[in-house]
Amino acid sequence: MYERVMNKESVLVVFSGGQDSTTCLFWAKHNFKKVYALSFLYGQKHENEVELAWEIARKAKVEFEVMDVSFIGKLGHNSLTDTTMIMDMEKPADSVPNTFVPGRNLFFLSIAAVYARERGINHIVTGVSQTDFSGYPDCRDAFIKSLNVTLNLAMDEQFVIHTPLMWIDKAETWALADQLGVMDVIRKETLTCYNGIPGDGCGHCPACKLRREGLEKYLKSKNQ
Ligand code: ZN
Repeated sequence: MYERVMNKESVLVVFSGGQDSTTCLFWAKHNFKKVYALSFLYGQKHENEVELAWEIARKAKVEFEVMDVSFIGKLGHNSLTDTTMIMDMEKPADSVPNTFVPGRNLFFLSIAAVYARERGINHIVTGVSQTDFSGYPDCRDAFIKSLNVTLNLAMDEQFVIHTPLMWIDKAETWALADQLGVMDVIRKETLTCYNGIPGDGCGHCPACKLRREGLEKYLKSKNQ
């Protein structure tokens, strides 16, 4: 019987070059011998995030590849891919914010699993967090666990999806970056901003707000 030997020392990180997935990239480097990073072009308005991601991956000396899945941006309407839409600054009471890209994490993780399988990797890392999930259903733990089971059934494999940030908030994510010794890289070289500005970003979009409040909370707790 054909048996695939999975390399337990390798890991694949779903990597956007933002604060969360970059923290996960260094977490992966800390916990695994060989790290692969996979980025996606999904029709996002600010495609420079992929170039910044490549730069971080290059400096971190990890394997890096970009997948073009720009059909995702054409499937559903959202303000991260549609230049004519005005971005929700807060989560509406009765729905998800229009920055939610329907299916994004489902597609990314499914593609990542196939990519990983081809390379004999069964460990996959994603930077989703239920604590600071901005109302995105595909950042929740139940979805990740469910998809993990589905991917295993789909390919008859034993994937393990790691979510180091699932139960921590943005302040604790900064703390983790600090513990990993990459505070400077995360502060200066990552792009979290929905307006496409690296580092501290535009300062007023929901992603910048969450990032800055987390940083302020962490620095305050550190100095106490
Ligand atoms: Zn911003």
